[in-house]
Amino acid sequence: MKKSLGLDVGGTHVKAAVLSSDGRVLDRAVVRTPESRQVDEVTSLLIQVSQALLAKHTDVEAVGVGAPGLIDLDRRVIRTAPNFPTWKNVPLAELIAAEIPLPVSLENDVNCFGLAEHRWGSGMGFQHLIALAIGTGIGGAIILDGKLYRGSSGAAAELGHVSVDLWGPRCNCGNLGCVERYLGEIWYAQAAAEALDDGTITSPRQVSARADAGDEQALRFIIERGEILGVACVSLINAFDPEAIIIGGGVALAGEPLFAGVRKAIRERLYPTTAEKIRIIPAKLGTISGAMGAAIL
Ligand SMILES: [Zn+2]
Repeated sequence: MKKSLGLDVGGTHVKAAVLSSDGRVLDRAVVRTPESRQVDEVTSLLIQVSQALLAKHTDVEAVGVGAPGLIDLDRRVIRTAPNFPTWKNVPLAELIAAEIPLPVSLENDVNCFGLAEHRWGSGMGFQHLIALAIGTGIGGAIILDGKLYRGSSGAAAELGHVSVDLWGPRCNCGNLGCVERYLGEIWYAQAAAEALDDGTITSPRQVSARADAGDEQALRFIIERGEILGVACVSLINAFDPEAIIIGGGVALAGEPLFAGVRKAIRERLYPTTAEKIRIIPAKLGTISGAMGAAIL
């Protein structure tokens, strides 16, 4: 059985998983990302974590790294990363390979999440798949004919920037009304605080707690956010005709009311024959999925 090591570089934590080729997580580690987020500190942490796991698993054959941001087509260099503002054209694969005598590949973290869900999670068995991870922003992965679609420069699947409102709020990317301006954690919580007239709401989880306790207004808010997400999904389905859309990340923990909203928008806005066959499914693998996907690289 072949083994590989996957590293998931996040803004707050680095996660690592030793994965067997049949998808079992044989070992894992989670450490805090250095607060400075400087390239040299983060790189030495990645090397330390890798060396500790490789000492226990001497038969690991390759290392994959999932990192936020724009990765070059050769999977060697992080061009830019929104959570690591000082990182510009960082040859992360080379920096790690200099200390670890194994092949090292690099990929966008949400692409890794999509790969893992496709291979071992909710996306198993599908050939055409879109995966959305909703946290601070919305990241996407597109799998076509069983393969990750990366676009002409590696920048494909920035699906959080699908606009759902011509004159909506301005997004960091320059567009107006990007779907992540409605579903990203902070914006979701801000909109909920306003809609429910409750300034103490600072997280999506609090909205769900109120809905679970029987607050109809909170429940309606979650369904409506789902509908907004559903409008973006309609555009994605029209563009790519996937078999399924998999939705994960912290905001997706709102669960059924959110998914019900997505399905409602799809029923109301998509060609009926397409709407009938599309599956909208929660992600399955949890917070280790990014590291698992990196190991698949
Ligand atoms: Zn945007």
